[in-house]
Amino acid sequence: MKAIIFGAPGAGKGTYSSRLQNQLGVDVIAMGDIFRESVKQNSELGKKVKSYVEQGALVPDNVVVDVLKDRLSKIPAGKGFLLDGFPRTIEQANTLEGIVKIDVILQLDVPDEIIIERLSTRRICRDCSAVYNIRFLKPKVEGKCDKCGGELYQRPDDNIEVIKNRLQVYKTQTEPLIEYYKQKNVPFIVSVTKSLDSPPEPMVAKMLDDIKKMGIC
Ligand code: ADP
Repeated sequence: MKAIIFGAPGAGKGTYSSRLQNQLGVDVIAMGDIFRESVKQNSELGKKVKSYVEQGALVPDNVVVDVLKDRLSKIPAGKGFLLDGFPRTIEQANTLEGIVKIDVILQLDVPDEIIIERLSTRRICRDCSAVYNIRFLKPKVEGKCDKCGGELYQRPDDNIEVIKNRLQVYKTQTEPLIEYYKQKNVPFIVSVTKSLDSPPEPMVAKMLDDIKKMGIC
């Protein structure tokens, strides 16, 4: 399966992808995680992307595309993948089209009010990037990752000013991709979240079921 997981910041892309990765045995390429890791390491890439990520602005397309190509080339032949956080612009989508044919878009549809509430209470594992929420998706032990015991932290871009900026960027630059892929007749599986405390498991299970019914894995 070659898929894109698509949705606004905080829609749950990371949460769904980690669960789908385990169930489907696909590789996940998560752009935001790659950038945060490179900022932490202070690598050449990290120096280039730091200020964009901190402000919730888009990293320039040429930088993102180079990272994507490098990561895709490392996926073993025949293995499926899930792109999380790519593409985010029409230009990125055009580049992707020249590299690989996407089988399905997994779209997460979540209202803005829920997103803002979720992002401001989100916590991430420093070591494995697993996603928690101090109100709705609590770890078993406060401040510690259930999976690897790593320390949980709040992403610096999960503050209200930067969240608003990220949502604005999403609406103007990224949301038009829904129309773009519809016009290209790429199939969609849409998961709609209606309430702040809906647990991810049943929604992920439903998505898995839909993927299997489509016969793409
Ligand atoms: P979000 O929770 O906003 O979906 P991500 O972890 O996917 O966050 O991305 C964090 C930041 O990394 C973005 O705000 C942006 O600065 C940068 N970024 C990630 N993916 C891309 C991309 N495809 N194009 C440009 N910038 C990106």
